[in-house]
Amino acid sequence: MINIIKIGVILLMTLLLPFMNLANAQENKTFNNKGLTDEQYMAVADSIHRVIISLDSHIDTPSYLLYPDADWSVTKGQVTFPLMEKGGLDGAFFAVYLDQGDWRRQSALDSAYNYCRYTLLAWRRYIYEGGYTNVAGFATTPDECRELKAQGKRIIVSCIENGYPIRTLEDLDEFYQLGVRYITLSHNSANQICDGSRYNKTAVWHGISPFGYKVIERMQQLGIMVDVSHISSEALSDVLRVTKAPVIASHSSCRVFRPTQLRNLTDDEIRAIAAVGGVIQVATGRFFLTDQLPKEKVDVKLLADHIDHVREVAGVDYVGLGTDFDGGGGVVGMNNAGEMKNLTVELLKRGWGVEDLRKFWGGNLLRVWQECIDKAFPKISEFLEL
Ligand SMILES: [Zn+2]
Repeated sequence: MINIIKIGVILLMTLLLPFMNLANAQENKTFNNKGLTDEQYMAVADSIHRVIISLDSHIDTPSYLLYPDADWSVTKGQVTFPLMEKGGLDGAFFAVYLDQGDWRRQSALDSAYNYCRYTLLAWRRYIYEGGYTNVAGFATTPDECRELKAQGKRIIVSCIENGYPIRTLEDLDEFYQLGVRYITLSHNSANQICDGSRYNKTAVWHGISPFGYKVIERMQQLGIMVDVSHISSEALSDVLRVTKAPVIASHSSCRVFRPTQLRNLTDDEIRAIAAVGGVIQVATGRFFLTDQLPKEKVDVKLLADHIDHVREVAGVDYVGLGTDFDGGGGVVGMNNAGEMKNLTVELLKRGWGVEDLRKFWGGNLLRVWQECIDKAFPKISEFLEL
């Protein structure tokens, strides 16, 4: 029976592929209302993932390198290279996450800097010395992502969740050299750069601090993307007022579905991020998606509701995915990197076309990243590449 299904799927794909034109994907071919079975939808999703570049903009795995016996780790967690291959996930931004400490104390800032630098280096060492270079590689530009995809390797981009380790602008130069291509300005509470989304309890600056403005300027001179997830609404509006390049929300969902979750973006904020050419990468943590349902009911459909909402509010050019895997993310049906294609199937059923999915899975994020590179000061970044 299974063989018959497999043969059926192969036959269907043979019939579909000539006019799907997936490699160019321009015509935005859709597959809903065609009476396809789930297996047939999965076969279509397989074909799409083979030709697009799929990127998850927020995964917390590197932080668990220091805790190899934890439930979440590079070998036991939601993200491993074999799982990524199975799920058709080409790459991800792998974050070094920092808990917020006492940013007013120099020794605490120094510790944060040391921890961040150490973890970035440990992550590189893990890949190079762990024997993973035949299956994965580091990318520092969209072009390098495309090269790795062509080689059949997983794409790793480094990033930092929380600007707490940034003591001086020169620290940014060093993090850039270590491959960091976005920095989330804060975590949930305030730091030396801005206020976090736990606004009522911890607001210090009512937006961006004087040092924070310099940090944003330097990041954009280098071509490091500014990530506005986790920051307060006041800080977000300050960023959008001064930014010289598009910004990303690397893992943020919609406030409209969960009004009390201040980490989520309002519809106005979603529109404002899109207005500067940025992208909203929807997060999958169940606490962002709903407070109405128990864990076992928070599934891919609910996640797709948030994704569809960003699409409706801002447009298909401004939406993507940041799972927060190994950091609290995951829903029933997409609870690890091996299950990503279930989301593609859900979106196909809702009428998303091939070109829409190419944009969603990485096209939009790569466009923003390239624009940030194009708007950087070439002399600074080229000098630092040496
Ligand atoms: Zn986060």
